[in-house]
Amino acid sequence: MPDQRTVILDTIRRDGAFDVVVVGGGINGIGVLRELALQGLRVLLVERNDFCSGCSAAPSRMIHGGLRYLENGEFGLVQESLHERDALLANAPHMVRPLPTTIPIRTVFSGLMNGAAGFLGLSETPSSRGALAIKAGLALYDWTTRKRRLLPRHNFRGARATFAQWPALDPKLRFSATYYDAWISYPERLGIELLRDTARLAPDSLALNRAEIARVGSTFELNDTTSGERFSVTAKVIVNATGAWLDSAIARLDASETPAAPLVEGTKGSHLILDNEPLYQALGGHMIFFENADGRVCIMFPYLGKVLVGSTDIRVSEAGRVRCEPAETDYILAAARLVFPSIPVHADEVVFTYSGIRPLPKSDHAFTGRISRGHSVHRIAGDIPQFCMIGGKWTTFRAFAEQAADEVLAELGRERLCGTLTLPIGGGLGFSAHPASLAADLAGEFAISDERAAYLVDRYGSGARDIILFCLGRPDDIRLDDRTETTAAEIVYLIRHEFVTCLSDLVLRRTSLAIAGDISMVSIERIADALAAERGWNRQRRDDEVKSLVAELDTYHGVSQEMLDQRTISGAQNESQRQSPDEPDVHQRQLPRCGARSRRVQ
Ligand SMILES: Cc1cc2nc3c(=O)[nH]c(=O)nc-3n(C[C@H](O)[C@H](O)[C@H](O)COP(=O)(O)OP(=O)(O)OC[C@H]3O[C@@H](n4cnc5c(N)ncnc54)[C@H](O)[C@@H]3O)c2cc1C
Repeated sequence: MPDQRTVILDTIRRDGAFDVVVVGGGINGIGVLRELALQGLRVLLVERNDFCSGCSAAPSRMIHGGLRYLENGEFGLVQESLHERDALLANAPHMVRPLPTTIPIRTVFSGLMNGAAGFLGLSETPSSRGALAIKAGLALYDWTTRKRRLLPRHNFRGARATFAQWPALDPKLRFSATYYDAWISYPERLGIELLRDTARLAPDSLALNRAEIARVGSTFELNDTTSGERFSVTAKVIVNATGAWLDSAIARLDASETPAAPLVEGTKGSHLILDNEPLYQALGGHMIFFENADGRVCIMFPYLGKVLVGSTDIRVSEAGRVRCEPAETDYILAAARLVFPSIPVHADEVVFTYSGIRPLPKSDHAFTGRISRGHSVHRIAGDIPQFCMIGGKWTTFRAFAEQAADEVLAELGRERLCGTLTLPIGGGLGFSAHPASLAADLAGEFAISDERAAYLVDRYGSGARDIILFCLGRPDDIRLDDRTETTAAEIVYLIRHEFVTCLSDLVLRRTSLAIAGDISMVSIERIADALAAERGWNRQRRDDEVKSLVAELDTYHGVSQEMLDQRTISGAQNESQRQSPDEPDVHQRQLPRCGARSRRVQ
């Protein structure tokens, strides 16, 4: 049977006439592909790298109303974001989950005028946020969602109650407040699930990663960069969803009329994943949403058994691939130490770093936190009009896609056939309100371990059943190594169904092996074996893939070859100790069986 990419390319080769070409496969491009495809249009999405590999792989992983935007006076954005947050909690409950968020507070009165000052343009940097300003913001947050309350209201605590719950918090605190937002466990996977939904519901529309497109006369030339093959494609409308790259993409798609000034400007943001058990325990399952010494709001929360801390916000003059620089690591570590001053936090606890460029609307604000996180669509006239998607947040991707799609539909004189506000996403379809009982049912039905069932439900929601059916009875349904529940058979499923073109797609975006600090040299080798077997690669090609992934992890994610080797050794020692507690011989190790290790599940 031809593989997924071959089928997509054959279809384009047979018929390259599309109503709309969407350029850029981040969450906003994927969102608009789904919107337009569901209205009966034939749409092609073209992504230069992998889907959700740009800014969409770099968020703080909050699905949130944006409490902070209140002090910029962006009440409409907060209202829309809360609406979309609640829609995601309902449509993707397997990945978007409630997150109790606690704000440590030092003062009573300060920051009261931040909202007014920001709104009137009187102040750039907000002053420290005190109890009254935070209380007012949280009351507004609660009021906005009063008619569809999915999450509890906020509550305020004095110092004694605060330290009773978080004894390690900074002793100088006077109050704390807890409110509820949400977090997303695997944003890159949600992007893939949206693509799979679109392929199922609107099979005439297509999405292609590792491809480039450029205007040639009255048509477009599509270049499959994995093979170098070129295709001729036509479109009535272009949607430019290239995020931070938007301005440079405009001319490639049609040079006839370009805006006089740039539409987008980028600010870079980085995060660290820390393996620090005392910090993890101190958080008590909450996000701490705190103010750093420079007035910027930072976040820290328990993520996949580790601690996620971020972020920075640094203007960049040009879009490109970015990484967390040493000065940013120092800034984030210093911020983490502010919150729980008695807990030591060391640079060698960083197991993964990531970084991205926020595609923000062009702005003159000196303080980057003041630049709007709102979104807009800018139409560029031409024989093939181009609709540019400017700004946005992960949380609001659906509303932004809906807005852009409505403008495209109006351009083409087409009616909207359906909406997406209540449409379940991927493994959110038919997802149980009680994931633990779904896991128990699957464990019983298929005789798999409770741990494996819980892991699969956590990753794939209701899609866990498909994975189990695929893996059942396969000889390679064996864990990649002691650090993970992911099996080689599961990797084969992902390769066949999830638009995988290379090793880094699997390690960085289809699984959470890298971000959770679980990737080791032995698991890289096993994933490479599976991919090479599926693609029919020779030894050289396979080894080149491994080399290129190891270099990428080192350069962009702070994961060195030494760390990968060390994880292999410690995994082997754990496994052989379990198999033979008296003889910890790493060379006589057998492959770990599924579900053999207990793991924190959030
Ligand atoms: C540090 C940080 C923290 C954040 N935290 C949050 C958060 O907690 N919650 C939240 O809601 N939002 C958050 N965001 C914002 C959110 O991540 C972004 O708004 C969103 O991901 C932008 O998606 P996008 O699709 O517009 O851009 P991208 O994801 O960057 O997608 C653009 C795509 O276009 C592709 N491309 C570029 N040029 C071309 C070309 N010529 N041809 C083909 N493809 C091309 C790129 O490869 C890229 O994949 C955060 C962002 C950052 C950086």
